This record gives sequence, C-alpha cells and structure tokens, in this order.
Amino acid sequence: HNDACEYPPHPGKMNWSVLYPGLTDPVVRFLDVGCGFGGLTVALSALFPDKIILALEIRAKVCEFVRLRIEEMRKEASPRARNAAVLKTNAMKYLPHFFRKGQLQKIFFCFPDPHFKTKNHRRRIVSERLLTEYAYLLQEGGILYAITDVEELHQWHVAKLSEHLSFERVPEETLAGDVTVTAITRETEESKKVERAGGRKYWCVFRRRPDAVVI
Ligand code: SAM
Repeated sequence: HNDACEYPPHPGKMNWSVLYPGLTDPVVRFLDVGCGFGGLTVALSALFPDKIILALEIRAKVCEFVRLRIEEMRKEASPRARNAAVLKTNAMKYLPHFFRKGQLQKIFFCFPDPHFKTKNHRRRIVSERLLTEYAYLLQEGGILYAITDVEELHQWHVAKLSEHLSFERVPEETLAGDVTVTAITRETEESKKVERAGGRKYWCVFRRRPDAVVI
C-alpha cells in the first residue's frame, strides 16, 4: 500500500477537533488498531458514549470508507458516533507522535494480518518491541485485547504478552459477559466473516501492569 502517512512532530501539535467536531478537548482513550471496515469502533462508540475512540487503518480506501460511515452516522436525526473517528496511519511506526504516555485505556488488535512465514514474523503488529510502545501509551491498569482466527498467531500473542514485564493476563473466567469481549468477538467485519465460515476465534486480554517505583 501507499505508506506515505502524515503525522504531527509530537502529540501537542495534533489538532484533534478536526476529527471530533463539536467536542471540546477530545482525548483519545480507546484505540482500534487496523480497524478494517470499522465495525468495532462503531460498536464501541455506542457502548462507551463518554469515551473518545480512534480507529487506525493503513489502507487509504478502507480508511475513507470508515470516515464516510462515521460521517453518515453523525448526520442521522439522533446523531451517533460523534465520539468515534478514523485516521490513516501506519500503527507500527507513528503512535508516539499522536499519543502521550499513559493516555490510552484500551487498545484493540482484531484479526491482525498473520504474516505466517517465519521471516515475516517481524512484521507482526504484536511483537516484543511494539509491546513496549503499547505499554508506554497505556495507562497503568489499561487493557490490551487481541483476537484472531489463526491459532498459531494466538499462541504468539499469548507468548509475547506473557513474556513482557509490563503486561499480565486477565483470567478468562473474570471476563464472562464482558461487553468489550463480546464486541471483539462479534462486531468486527472479520469476526462476522469467521462466524459465517464456522471458524474458531481465539482471544486474550492483558492488563498493563503498574510500573515499579524504584527509590
Ligand atoms: N480489525 C478489522 C476486523 O477485525 O474486521 C480488520 C482486520 S484486517 C484482517 C487487518 C487490517 O489491518 C487491514 O485492514 C489492514 O489494512 C490493517 N493494517 C495492517 N497493518 C497495519 C498497520 N501497520 N497500521 C494500520 N493498519 C494496518
């Protein structure tokens, strides 16, 4: 794809009111990384009306589709999705240009590209290096969600996150009935496709650990 992305020199230079017209000082709290056609972001905007949600997508045409989808929702008689927006960017390169340390409360990786071959594993969006970046951007106690239909990729997610000192797994049994887990398993376009094909979905949830205080 066309990887030319615009990004601010630092988060203070980003004009968020262009993306969230009518909202004063919007601060992004939820990040839908590789949003595809935007089903999760749209669902989250209704589930969490007081949160600012941002979808990231690298493909310009897909990004434009989501932008128009949100624009239409905002024009309805009772406007929806005013707290949701989409941005075209490469999430593997520019996140610290957009967000401050500890700003995010939830970050989502729904059905990321699997990059099956070993030589392409370095392109995976969950990796040791990038997890350090996500940990920097998440507030303490913030939550990372990852879902895939590729069992091997799921095992990779669990391994990389479990090995990382800044994350701890949230036990599955404490997540029964969690609306956010229901959203990642049912509301993304990819999750619906897997559902129709009768495929399995594997997900995991990890919490950003507090930083140790060294005196
Ligand atoms: N999350 C959506 C869903 O569950 O329906 C889309 C899943 S799709 C298989 C993966 C998406 O991630 C694609 O739309 C792709 O363009 C996007 N993507 C891949 N690498 C990306 C990157 N580095 N930054 C932003 N988006 C990326």
